[in-house]
Amino acid sequence: MSWNVLFVLLVGVVVLILLSPVFKSTWPFSTFYRNVFQPFIADDQKYRWKFHLVPIFYTLIYLYLVYTYHTRVEWLVRSELFLCERILVVPIITLAPIACGILVMVTKAEDSYHHKPGSTEKYPYDYLLYYPVVKCSTCHIIKPARSKHCSICNRCILVADHHCIWVNNCIGKGNYLQFYLFLISNIFSLLYAFLRLWCISLNSKTALPRAVLTLTILCGCFTIICIIFTYLQLTIVREGMTTNEQDKWYTIQEYMREGKLVRSLNDNCQSWFLKLTEDDTTKLTQDQHATFYSTNAYDHKQYNLAHYITIKDASEISNIYDKGTFLANFTDLIQ
Ligand SMILES: [Zn+2]
Ligand SMILES: [Zn+2]
Repeated sequence: MSWNVLFVLLVGVVVLILLSPVFKSTWPFSTFYRNVFQPFIADDQKYRWKFHLVPIFYTLIYLYLVYTYHTRVEWLVRSELFLCERILVVPIITLAPIACGILVMVTKAEDSYHHKPGSTEKYPYDYLLYYPVVKCSTCHIIKPARSKHCSICNRCILVADHHCIWVNNCIGKGNYLQFYLFLISNIFSLLYAFLRLWCISLNSKTALPRAVLTLTILCGCFTIICIIFTYLQLTIVREGMTTNEQDKWYTIQEYMREGKLVRSLNDNCQSWFLKLTEDDTTKLTQDQHATFYSTNAYDHKQYNLAHYITIKDASEISNIYDKGTFLANFTDLIQ
C-alpha cells in the first residue's frame, strides 16, 4: 500500500471521528461516535495518553514557526537584522517559550498531601464557597480552602485555578509564576517576531516572498490569541479569584439574581443560605418560616432561619480572598 493511500485513509478516519459528535445518528458517523469518540472522551484512565495530544499539538505549531523562519525566512531578512538580534535576541525568543513550557509542565502544583508547611492553612474558609467539613471522596482528606480536586491529576490541588490542557498540568499553588512566565514568554516572542517581520516588509523596496508574509500573519494571529487569553486570566487575578472560583461566583450571583441567596442574622460563622421557595422574596416577611439549604453543595440538610436578609446586590457579598489590588492578588498567588 502506497504512502498516499495510507495518508488518505488516516485523514478519512480522523475526519469521521471529529464529525461523529455532529452527525451522531447518521451512519457511518454514528459507529465512530459510539465506539471511538465517546469512550475516548469519557474514559480518562484508559486513554490517559490523550492529555498529551494538545501539548504535542502546541509544540508542533511552535516548531513549525521556528523551522519556517530558519529554512525560508532567515536568509531573506538576515541583512536587515542587527548583529545583537542575530546572535542574542533571536535565540533567546526562540528558546524562551519552549523552556518556560517545559518548566510549567514539570512543576507540579501543591496538593493536599504534597505541600509546603502551612500551605493548607494559608486561607481561611469563607463559609460561602468553601466549608471546613467537606471531605474529598477520592483523596479521603478534608479539602483545604481554595482547593479543588482534579480528576485528571487525581489530587486535590491547592489554590486550584484550572487544568491547563496546553501543558497538561494543573495550575495552582506552586506553579502560578511558571504559568505566567510561559504566557508572557509566548507573547513577547510572537509579538517581537511579528513586529520585526512587519517592519522589514514595510521597509523593503522589493516584494518579499510569500514565506515572510505567511510567517508574519501566523505570528500576528498567535500573538492576539495569547494576549486575549492572558488578559482574561489577569482579569480573574485582579478580582482576587481563581478560574475555579470565578465559576463558583457565577453560580452564587445567579442565585442572588433569582432572589434565593440569603444571609443569616444569627450570630454564627455559617451565614449564607439558599432559600428553598422560588416565590418572590419581597413577599416573605422575617417572621415566616421557610426552609433553607447551605451554600455548601455537599450539605443536604434543611435549615430553618428565623432572622435573615435577602441579598439583592453583589456588593453585599465580600470576597475574603481579594487583597484589594491586582498586584497584591498576584503576589499572593505566586508566593
Ligand atoms: Zn481530592
Ligand atoms: Zn489537573
